[in-house]
Amino acid sequence: MTTHDKIMSYFVNEKGYYGDFGGAYIPEMLYPNVEELRQQYLGIINELSFQEEFKALLKDYVGRPSPLYLAKRLSQKYGANIFLKREDLNHTGAHKINNTIGQILLAEKLGKKRIIAETGAGQHGVATATVCALRGLECVVYMGEIDIKRQAPNVARMKMLGATVVPATSGSKTLKDATNEAMRDWINNPVDTHYIIGSVVGPHPYPDMVSIFQSVISEETKKQLLAQTGKDEPDYVLACVGGGSNAAGMFYHFINDENVKLIAVEAAGMGVSSGYSAATTYLGKEGVLHGSRSILMQTPDGQVVEPHSVSAGLDYPGIGPQHAHLFKTGRCEYVSITDDESLNAGLLLTQLEGIIPAIESAHAIAHLEYMTFKGDENVVICLSGRGDKDMETYMKHFKL
Ligand SMILES: *Cc1c(COP(=O)(O)O)cnc(C)c1O
Repeated sequence: MTTHDKIMSYFVNEKGYYGDFGGAYIPEMLYPNVEELRQQYLGIINELSFQEEFKALLKDYVGRPSPLYLAKRLSQKYGANIFLKREDLNHTGAHKINNTIGQILLAEKLGKKRIIAETGAGQHGVATATVCALRGLECVVYMGEIDIKRQAPNVARMKMLGATVVPATSGSKTLKDATNEAMRDWINNPVDTHYIIGSVVGPHPYPDMVSIFQSVISEETKKQLLAQTGKDEPDYVLACVGGGSNAAGMFYHFINDENVKLIAVEAAGMGVSSGYSAATTYLGKEGVLHGSRSILMQTPDGQVVEPHSVSAGLDYPGIGPQHAHLFKTGRCEYVSITDDESLNAGLLLTQLEGIIPAIESAHAIAHLEYMTFKGDENVVICLSGRGDKDMETYMKHFKL
């Protein structure tokens, strides 16, 4: 893993901005917490002892490196060499664990004894509760009351892992309200508590820090591609985008290589014009969400619009500030895929390759339908997670 080079313009600058986006728009009361993190994160991450422990856990606990798998039957169907970066094979079934491992080690180095997190569908809550059990730290997860009812298996996992799940009972009783509750907790516990954010969102330095922890995905991919194809750069890299962390990790070491085309796939939900969508770059406008300036779905008077996606992980009204910058500069192409298209792609991958993907990841697979290839291009798709958690949705949709 490397940290970013200061001269790379697609990465964060000294002030915490990616072009027009990023920064730290936080209440005064939160300033000391975020400032401590900002001053310390790069120093700690670059310490040898941190790197050694992080790499050892990624290897022996998470199961890294995750394979880069040439999907032969999928490749045949689309006429290109399609490689899947198998984040679905990680412990806990997705890429999220890369970030929570990094952040818990950082929290320990900062002397924190207590971890808080917010979660929507529960995936980030489970990844956080997992590393807290691993390191024996107290864990409090804020979750909207409605989400707690909808996501019973993940709530049970968190409890079994020893976490306290606190219902957020205000507002819409979903992710936004859980985030507010977590912020309030952090303000009240500035000394002993670290707040683990689950994607490349939030105030600086979170987007940069999370993308550094997730950059192991592209670091491995480059080596694996070199070994398998003789070249460490593919023609295309694709990843789905909720907040944007698996995509940020998948793009990281390719961002400054303009030969590599980057494609980010958002959730169109029931269609971008249906009123039930999470296609942020298509529907959104610039504004401030969760502590940073980015692109988000909002009404003309600036109220956040409730997003919709069949995949809980993509059901987010914004994208991280680096993505807003990649979108605005045109470095990365942002596209969107509907609920139905993603479910069909999930079934397709299952029947062609024997891999049941998370519905989030299936969005990236689905975009292959819209691409045309000359025949020998190398395409890498981040398979961000496995589909076990989505079986109920697949069962309902395909009447299994
Ligand atoms: C949470 C999640 C996502 C979306 O989060 P990003 O931060 O955009 O990566 C995508 N895939 C899976 C499997 C997830 O669990």
